[in-house]
Amino acid sequence: MDPDRPVMQNDAGKRNATCVSALNMIIKSLWDISVFASSRDDEPVFHEFLLNDLSLKHPLEANSVFDLFLNILEALPNWGSYFEVYEVAKKICNRCKMDLEYPTERSFGLIINASSLRESAFKDFTFENIVKVIKMNLKMPCDKEGCGKQNYVQRMINNLPSVFTIALEWTKNETAGEIYDTASVLATEIDVSVIYQCEADNRYTKFRLVSMVCSDGDRYNCVAYENNRWVIGDWDSVVSICLTQSIRPQILFFESDMRSPRTLEIPSSPFSTCNGLAFNINPDLNYFEQIVPYGIPDKQVTSLRRETDTLLPSEEVIHEQLVSCLAKAFSYDLVVWKEDPSVILVTQDNE
Ligand SMILES: [Zn+2]
Repeated sequence: MDPDRPVMQNDAGKRNATCVSALNMIIKSLWDISVFASSRDDEPVFHEFLLNDLSLKHPLEANSVFDLFLNILEALPNWGSYFEVYEVAKKICNRCKMDLEYPTERSFGLIINASSLRESAFKDFTFENIVKVIKMNLKMPCDKEGCGKQNYVQRMINNLPSVFTIALEWTKNETAGEIYDTASVLATEIDVSVIYQCEADNRYTKFRLVSMVCSDGDRYNCVAYENNRWVIGDWDSVVSICLTQSIRPQILFFESDMRSPRTLEIPSSPFSTCNGLAFNINPDLNYFEQIVPYGIPDKQVTSLRRETDTLLPSEEVIHEQLVSCLAKAFSYDLVVWKEDPSVILVTQDNE
């Protein structure tokens, strides 16, 4: 009999239990975010799907609860769209003045080393400022041949996600005091425009912490803000419990702090494009040769069919996707299709 075998089985069982615990707590933390409110009723379905899809394929290694989260987004790409951030890094060499803009990179949040948050150099810094400095300090060498000077890199984002995610990386050897020192730096409100350069209106750059996936040893838990309070009391109680129970915050979910969800109302009549947006799906473009469309002589009219040169889905599908893309681009959380009989009547008379 092989004496190692039962031990290996126990290890596998333990690893699987750890993975299931992490998965449960990620899902629980997501349900506390407004954009997932409508998915809560389907929890058992998502849960079973993810459990089958992930737990066996992706055994959870040390410190990789964030990897598990990324695997969830890979399995459910629609969810990913709430978290995605498009980041551009720009660098100007202060020796030879050569500037370089790196290609846009998509990510689902920031990963920060937990120990760097508690460095003494950051005493009296706000959380968002510490994060900004940590990111800026990731220097990159100048690309000009023969220069190679290490330069600071400016970070910009082109979009504001619905959920801004920060993952902390721990070594698992921290003392309770060190965990406490890191946790006490965290903030429940952040302004993303402090961390990144972004052109957005500053009413929309503020985010509020709504839930955290935490770990103590091999167990995971969720610390959430529900009904205007943290489940274990005020924020100070959350920080204290990190000390007394050695709880490490692993993934922090911040949601956009717009007071109420923004709603885009769409009349449900397909005829009503009154003063709105006309979108050519597949019309006869020859017609536009005979006129000066919109009074702009040097621009051509095109269509989705011409631009994509592929077989298109039904008009309803395109209509719905166009509206949801526009809603997303303008940071609306909710799209409501309104039945307005007067609109339908007027446009039908005109037909
Ligand atoms: Zn240079």
